[in-house]
This record gives sequence, C-alpha cells and structure tokens, in this order.
Amino acid sequence: ANQQTRKPDWLRVKLPTGKEYAHVRGLVDDHKLHTICESGNCPNMGECWGAGTATFMILGNICTRSCSFCAVATGRPLAVDTDEPNRVANSVKLMQVKHCVITSVDRDDLKDGGSIIWAETINAIRQQSPGTTLETLLPDFRGNWDNLALVLATRPEVVSHNLETVRRLTREVRIQAKYDRSLEALKHISQAGLRTKSGIMLGLGETEADVLEAMDDLLTAGVQILTLGQYLQPTRSHHPVVDWIHPDQFAFYKEVGLSKGFRYVESGPLVRSSYHAEKHLFEI
Ligand code: SF4
Ligand code: SF4
Repeated sequence: ANQQTRKPDWLRVKLPTGKEYAHVRGLVDDHKLHTICESGNCPNMGECWGAGTATFMILGNICTRSCSFCAVATGRPLAVDTDEPNRVANSVKLMQVKHCVITSVDRDDLKDGGSIIWAETINAIRQQSPGTTLETLLPDFRGNWDNLALVLATRPEVVSHNLETVRRLTREVRIQAKYDRSLEALKHISQAGLRTKSGIMLGLGETEADVLEAMDDLLTAGVQILTLGQYLQPTRSHHPVVDWIHPDQFAFYKEVGLSKGFRYVESGPLVRSSYHAEKHLFEI
C-alpha cells in the first residue's frame, strides 16, 4: 500500500457526539479556546472531551525542528510569551478539563529549551485547577538533563516522551532527534519515579522485528505505558504512509507489549499519544 491507496475502513472517523462532548464544545466556542484536539483535527475528540481529556500546545506554534511526519510549521519561533502559562491554565479551568495533556513545539533556540515556561504552565494549572491531573508530553531538551529536571520537579502525574519511530527509521523521520537520546530522556523520567509513557507511529516502513526491538528498548528505559497508532500523512510533502497496519496486527502488538512487561498498552489505528490518556492514570 502507499499514500495513493484509499484509507482502509477501520480509519473512518466517528463523528463526535454525546452530552459531555456537547458541553465542552459549547465552552470552547463561547470562550474561543484553542486546543490541539481541534487544530490537529483529531478523530478522537468526541471520546476524549467526553471523558474530560484535552491537549494543549505551548511555546508557540512554530517549531525549530522539521520531523517528516509532523504538520507543525518549522521556522524561527516568536519570542516567548510569558502570559501563555496563565492563558492555558484559564482554558483548562474554563473547559473543566479533568485530565490535561500538555505538549510543546521544540525550542532548540532557547537556552532553557522552554523548560521555564513548561514549569510555569504546570504550576499555573495546579493552582487554578487543583483537581486536574496532568500529563506532559516533553521534548528531549537536546539532552540538557538539567532543563528536563526542572520540568520533572513539578511532578506531573504522567510524563511522556515519544520515540515516534523505530531505530532504523529515526534519521529519516526525525532528522534533529536521536533514538538513543530519546531513550535516555525516558530513563531520566522513570528514574525520577514518575509514570513514564512513550509512543510510536506505525506505517512508516518499520518491520515487526523493528517494533519489537523498540519495545525492548523502551522497557529497558523504564517505560510503563506504550501507545501505538497508525501514521497518517498530513500533506503530500510529508513522509508517505508506507503501510496501513491491520487492526489484528495492532491487537498482536498489544498482547506482545503486555507480555513483555508494559503496564498499559494502547494500540489501534486511531490511537494518538493522548488517546484514553485518563485511563492509563488510574490503572497504574
Ligand atoms: Fe485531543 Fe489527544 Fe484526545 Fe486527540 S487523542 S482528542 S489530541 S486528547
Ligand atoms: Fe513536530 Fe515535535 Fe518534530 Fe517539532 S519536534 S516538528 S512539533 S514532532
């Protein structure tokens, strides 16, 4: 298969419905709030918002990196917006988010890698919404573990860093990243005693053996929660979809992952790293 092939039926998106979803939808529209769920056109909005989960992106919307799968714009980011932590915390409160996922662009241009805004955002959310649990999807901070430690000191309930792909494809898919550096970041997270999570996209050209190797590497790094989902090409200039992974294969990976020792595996065509995020929290 390739990107010219029609999407298989199992990737058909369910329209968001439900009372809870409609409630959150109303709040977002009334207050003109900005979420990644919406700007990323995520297929899981009905389910996630209905369950009280939403994802926000911080540190602007221009990234210093240019991963070949990613729809975020690459370039020179704008100056840091010191009001952002407060604004995001306000949105979380207005949306009555129960489990808040925060992610960011990579700010390789900043000395602190964005870690100060990261910590301020987490603290602001904690202050305004003390009952909300937090999940942070962190960058690798270019291996500056002091910057990472600054964020980890805020003790989010779940900390994740995505490996995104297998070792063999990392150079091609994440040109400025390194497979081993990502594993090291994860090791720092797990050694800090935090629930540690990572995700891989499938369909980029990896083999089953590649995926099993990545699972072993993630377990060695101390990862407890794993997400596996189908890669979808955001535009024609992005990395092609090499394979449509069959739901049975996702089910197989889930079984293997659990038997290898992950505490929780979310594996399926529509899985995104924050999909069912609120569930991992209570099962670990
Ligand atoms: Fe939002 Fe993530 Fe859920 Fe998609 S999977 S709707 S981005 S929380
Ligand atoms: Fe996208 Fe993250 Fe890569 Fe930036 S570092 S291009 S936001 S995946």
